[in-house]
Parts: sequence; structure tokens; C-alpha cells
Amino acid sequence: MKPKLNSAVSVVRVNEKILEFFKSNTRQQVRIKVDSDLILKIVCDLDGDKDIREIAEKYNVSEAELVGLFSFLAQKGILNAVDPAIDFKEYEKFRRVINFLGDFSTSHEHLVKMWNDLQSACVLIVGLGAVGSWVACNLSQSGIEKFILMDPDAVEKSNLHRQFGYTETDIGVKKIDVLEKRLKEYNPNVCVKKSYDFLDGEALSRFDGDHIDLIINCADKPTVDMTSTWIGEYAMKRQIPHIVGGGYNLHLSLVGQTIIPGQTACVKCFEKTLEEENKIDRSRVKKLAVKNRKVGSFGPMCSLIASMIGMEAIKILSKCCRPANINRRGEFDIYSMDVSYKEYNKRLDCDWCGVNGLYSDAKYPRE
Ligand SMILES: [Zn+2]
Repeated sequence: MKPKLNSAVSVVRVNEKILEFFKSNTRQQVRIKVDSDLILKIVCDLDGDKDIREIAEKYNVSEAELVGLFSFLAQKGILNAVDPAIDFKEYEKFRRVINFLGDFSTSHEHLVKMWNDLQSACVLIVGLGAVGSWVACNLSQSGIEKFILMDPDAVEKSNLHRQFGYTETDIGVKKIDVLEKRLKEYNPNVCVKKSYDFLDGEALSRFDGDHIDLIINCADKPTVDMTSTWIGEYAMKRQIPHIVGGGYNLHLSLVGQTIIPGQTACVKCFEKTLEEENKIDRSRVKKLAVKNRKVGSFGPMCSLIASMIGMEAIKILSKCCRPANINRRGEFDIYSMDVSYKEYNKRLDCDWCGVNGLYSDAKYPRE
């Protein structure tokens, strides 16, 4: 082991007896008691070039003492070990992402595993419009290399103001083909499986033979309720985490929920609770006189929602921390920039995940 101080960590001498490690990514502090300047000198010298024996000799301390100190610091996500360029594929390109994950790791091996899990994950994104195109970009930028993309549409002029990666020269070309090229420009290791089909109740069965780690629903045709039900059912059956992207009533201002089969409220739990709420307060339900209205939207709003989905995806795939949008969904207010969340609990009487539900034995991680 050649210990190296995590590059996101600053060391501060608070006073004669206290040394503080400040993790700038998460703003967490770890303090240790010291009785001399020696520990400060040692930790500031942890550049990954020397092993424990060499450090012990240089500072005239016992190896056992150093092992105790370094184990503690590694557990707190303060130390990395050995040569990152060897342990992490594409380290130079993604070092900041790896550093971010490092703040959540309990050991060097744990960090390597988080990065491997993230990079080798396969994500199915359904719908490559205003949210899906940005999500795909966010995830490939973060190191994910395997994608299954599903979208039947070609690029239209009216897409360009709010969807990522498409330009005037792409008009008339299938979105999947344009986006595949764009993602590979970010990272030549990206590989894309393509499906030009419309989503319906049967369409997802063509992916039965594929290993999928996460499904992100960014499709709103015929309605987000329908696409959520199809994707939700497929994901519950196969025990795959899934995220409902933007959509619903006020289109992209909605921050959709994250669903972990067997652990959180599922699509049907949300549906049932929403139905009950609407029954109680029918007087406030408005009927639309105009069908197929086009709700206003623009790039910054779409990319903001997509970024939140991207962050949830990284948490799920790397398992660095608990996803935030489980059992709730939010609405982004463009005027105040606030997101207001409403809680939706997992229901015992749910037709899918409840006690007698179709998927009551769903488990994640899969066994
Ligand atoms: Zn449920």
C-alpha cells in the first residue's frame, strides 16, 4: 500500500492538539488529536510514492502506528492507496468523478468497486427528447459506457432549442444515431444498443436477454402515465431500479421519482395515492378544453431536471449513497427556483409491491 491523500481533502491545523481533514466535496470534517507536528508532516507527505515501511523509516515511527492511522483515514475516505492510474480505468479523464466517489468510500478497494460498478453499468434510456438527450450526455460524461437507447423519432427543427446534441445538420436523421455519435465523441469506449421502436406494452421484451442496471423513463408518448406503467411493470418483473423522468401535468417542471424494487414505493403506489387524492378534491381537478397542447419549455429547465436524474443514476449505479428521490416527487418552481417535494409511501395494498401484490417478492440487489 502506498497511501495518498485524497486530492479533495485539505489539512488544517486547528490548534496545537487538533488536526482537521476537510473534505471539500461533501464539506465533511474529520478531526484527530495530535501531540506534535509529526503527524501533520507525515500526512502532508502522503503523495502515493512511498510505502508504509519507507514512511516509517523516514519519520522514525513504527509501522504498526502508521497502519492504525492510515486505516482510520482510509475508512473516513481521506486516503487513497497505490497508483490510481493502474487501479482506475480512464483515470486521467475521469479523475474528478473518481475523487467525488472517493468521499463516499470506506477503503481504496471500495472506491475501485464503486468506479467499476459505475463505468461498467448498462443504462436503458427510453425517449431521447428534452430530458433523455441531456441524461445520456450527463451519464457518458460521468464515465458510463454502456447504453441501450430507445426512440423512434428523427430530429426536427423544433427540438433544437431544448434537446442536447442535435444541430441543424441533423434534421431528419434519427435521434439515436445522432446521439450515439455525440456520446462516442465524449468517450470512444461508449457502446450503444439501439432500438428505433415506439414504446408499448410489448416493446421492452426485446431486451430480455440484456443485463440492465437502470432504466430511465424519459418518454411521454402516448402519456407519461402509460410509459411509466409499462416501464414500471417491466422493471419490477426483472427487479431493475428505475427513474421516472420529467413529465406529468406541468411537463418538465416535475422531478420524477426513483424506484428501487422491493424497497421503495412503486409506480402503482404513486398511482393509487394520486387517485385517492383526486377523489377527495374533485372540485379542483380541471378538464382541459384543448387537446395536444404544447407546454412552454426551454433548455435550461430541461437540463436542470435531467441533471437531477443523472445524479440519482450515479448514486444508484455506484451505490455511493442513498438516492434522494425515493418515495417522493418534486415540482420545480422556475420563479423561486425552489423544488417542493411531496411524499408517497410504499403501500401495503399496492397491486404490484403490496403484501398480496404481483411483485411482492421483488428484491434489489437481485440474488
Ligand atoms: Zn407499489
